[in-house]
Amino acid sequence: MELKNYTIVTLGSHSALQILKGAKDEGFKTGVVATPDRITLYNSYNNFIDEVLRIKSWKDFPKLEKKLLKRNAIIIPHGSFVAYLGMDQNKNMKALYFGNKKVLDWEENRKMQRNWMEESGVKVPHRFKRGDKIDRPVIVKSYGAAGGKGYFTARNQKEFDEKLKSYSEERFIVQEYVIGVPVYFHFFYSPLTKKVEIMSIDKRYETNVDSLGRIPAKNQRGLNIEPSFEVVANIPLAIRESLLAEAVSMAERVVKTSQRLMPSKGLFGPFCLETIITSAEEIYVIEISARIVAGTNCFIDGSPYTYLNYSEPMSTGRRIAREIKNAIKSNKLKEVLDE
Ligand code: AMP
Ligand code: AMP
Repeated sequence: MELKNYTIVTLGSHSALQILKGAKDEGFKTGVVATPDRITLYNSYNNFIDEVLRIKSWKDFPKLEKKLLKRNAIIIPHGSFVAYLGMDQNKNMKALYFGNKKVLDWEENRKMQRNWMEESGVKVPHRFKRGDKIDRPVIVKSYGAAGGKGYFTARNQKEFDEKLKSYSEERFIVQEYVIGVPVYFHFFYSPLTKKVEIMSIDKRYETNVDSLGRIPAKNQRGLNIEPSFEVVANIPLAIRESLLAEAVSMAERVVKTSQRLMPSKGLFGPFCLETIITSAEEIYVIEISARIVAGTNCFIDGSPYTYLNYSEPMSTGRRIAREIKNAIKSNKLKEVLDE
């Protein structure tokens, strides 16, 4: 089938604009699934969004199944998919889906994810198991792509015990708090070319941890401020080339390991290594996001790194569409879809 017989569709949030602009630039029909509060936004981009599919609330998404199948829709997942639809609903959808749904289990379950990282030979912060003595500063994280919601930090066992009493999350992990700077590396692995590409790099702007330094410690004393890690925006970065070399080699190992662990194709398409880099230039991976991350929105017209490869604007969203286009042209569409 030809390109024009497919429609690239995604949920209206997170990185939808980037994904659909990229799809249009590559010659696809495009559609966005949107709730009433976002219709105005997506209608205003009718230069690259062909159709706005309206639903009352996210839980109505499965009702669109027939429409999606009729349009030969290829669904592009992003951060909102599991967050808004739930894992089961997302997995049960029959529409064509870019990516490997089996990877979602490894992403969502922090223990499986840790296993994946360790097998890949990347540095990870020390993990405290239930009952372990907390002998250094820690960060406690809830499960799922919540954009830093529901985290807290503790300096020692006593503070940890105290704070846990009023913590409402049931599933969480306790991780060493690494002193360094957060750096998020965005990659794309192509099952067609078998290459890992560095797409772009960002850091997050998180409230309130990124503004605590604005008031001196002496003025904060007594205010009882707790650091929180909720992402509000993303800031582009260009990184030292020596660190880039190591990050790319880590990404390659993460992909290779996934092919061993996750049937049958492993991780492919966009993904992100979320890291903390210390003053000893050690790169600790705190999380793998196995999909497009919102930090790529800084680079809708390309990044310094994609310019090296493409000499034209190439966002991660457009790269996804390019991959699907190349797959269709070479009769290999199945290789980039969930089986
Ligand atoms: P939104 O469409 O902004 O409500 O985001 C959908 C989901 O993705 C939510 O679970 C957010 O917490 C998460 N999310 C949104 N923006 C970002 C971001 N810049 N970085 C990481 N996660 C995000
Ligand atoms: P995450 O949801 O794992 O991407 O983490 C969200 C934010 O929490 C990061 O951007 C960091 O600011 C902070 N963070 C998470 N894990 C750690 C860690 N092990 N050490 C220090 N900061 C962390």
